[in-house]
Amino acid sequence: MRTRFAPSPTGFLHIGNLRTAFFAWLMARKTNGSFALRIEDTDRAREVTGAVESILRVLAWAGMKPDEGVMPDDAGNIVEKGSHGPYIQSKRFDLYRTYADQLLKDGHAYRCFCTPERLDEMRKKQEKLRQAPMYDRTCLELDPAEVEKRVAAGEKHVLRLKVPREETIAYEDKIYGPLSFKGHTVDDQVLLKSDGFPTYHLANVVDDHLMEIDLVIRGEEWLSSTPKHLILFKAFGWRPPQYAHVPLLLNPDRSKLSKRQGDVAAEDFIKKGYLPEALMNFLALLGWNPGTEQELFTITELIESFTLERIHKSGAVFDLKKLDWIQGQWMRKIPAQDFADRIRPLVTVKYPDAANDSKFLQKAALIQERITFFPEAPDMLGFFYTEPTATMELIANPKQKVTEADVPKILGILKTAVESIDEKKWTKDAIVTAIDAALASSGLKKGQLLWVLRASLTCRAYSPGAYEVAEILGREKALLRLKKIGI
Ligand code: GLU
Repeated sequence: MRTRFAPSPTGFLHIGNLRTAFFAWLMARKTNGSFALRIEDTDRAREVTGAVESILRVLAWAGMKPDEGVMPDDAGNIVEKGSHGPYIQSKRFDLYRTYADQLLKDGHAYRCFCTPERLDEMRKKQEKLRQAPMYDRTCLELDPAEVEKRVAAGEKHVLRLKVPREETIAYEDKIYGPLSFKGHTVDDQVLLKSDGFPTYHLANVVDDHLMEIDLVIRGEEWLSSTPKHLILFKAFGWRPPQYAHVPLLLNPDRSKLSKRQGDVAAEDFIKKGYLPEALMNFLALLGWNPGTEQELFTITELIESFTLERIHKSGAVFDLKKLDWIQGQWMRKIPAQDFADRIRPLVTVKYPDAANDSKFLQKAALIQERITFFPEAPDMLGFFYTEPTATMELIANPKQKVTEADVPKILGILKTAVESIDEKKWTKDAIVTAIDAALASSGLKKGQLLWVLRASLTCRAYSPGAYEVAEILGREKALLRLKKIGI
């Protein structure tokens, strides 16, 4: 299948558009097809500098290399590749004009001289009468000779699509199923603006045809444009592509996911430190349901299992908690050495001793089970590189069933247990055995002992397990921290 992603460079790439692009990319991969990147910059006034670069950066980060179209070359310059170019609409304006002329000649389009003021008045009247806002076709009635004269005189005008009002436009959406629109509800869309520039609708249809796109995947917000596009395909005598409109992304309160509710720019998610594996896994599950309990998917698994049939039409709730859970799961999957290599420079900035620490791999492994984002690492490992002192406030913790009165006794037991282990036999097993032995005669619960040990050694409420930390810290340091507590 030939699919495409056709963003307009009018600002940041919305996270929902990244998902749309991903679905189109997945369909191309699944069918050994081609994924094209086309830049829809017909609206020059809304263009934002740097938007194309940003789109390409995000796609590259996500691992979605376009097979054709606009892309970065090895040196990072933006180039176009492929046999269906140019892929930037502003380079195709002459082409759109030629096709618009054809529509005019064939009677599928007409010239409209109505001024913005007149259109405004018309709209106001329609509003008052509670009619749908629609061009009233004043200029369709004009005498052809008069039209000629006005054109020759250089009067400003646009070109409008002549919608067959008596027809019903029906098609089968790959997600919404069979849909039909009455012709009389479709507005006579402007195709060429008065400056001769094409509108999105004309350029989009001409390009999807000339670029031989088989499947258009786009956001639900374009659903109402599709009848206009289908009318254009028919007017040109072209076979339209298949359309799949993907559901909106919603906030947990089911309102439309928008900028006001937090970050929706794809690049903000990258900046926050999400792994591409995690973000793309999460996005795939927004609107698509694998039909099984599986939640973690590699890209290869997604290419295999993804189908349009399993995308539902109702809005997909953007659940950040789920995203963070998926992120955590993907952090655990990183090979231990790679994980240590990724966090070591971050930890070293704060704790230079980490640079030559022979136990770094072991320490990193302890937090890999708990971390969500790489930048959390320095803080999580800080207790290994500093000499913190635990406070009573931390240690006496009702959730751990440890009261202030218990603490001195527990600390005493722990010190004796640690001291009973020979320096040379300091292993996790030895620590477990010593603590078990101490526990037997204490009348305390194991959880109480382990909490005090862990809190005293790490001085943190959330930290790796007590035995593992004690083992890595070593006998001397462990003892020092237990004794240091000023109680
Ligand atoms: N340029 C449109 C956008 O920015 C593309 C819509 C489509 O895929 O047809 O979303």
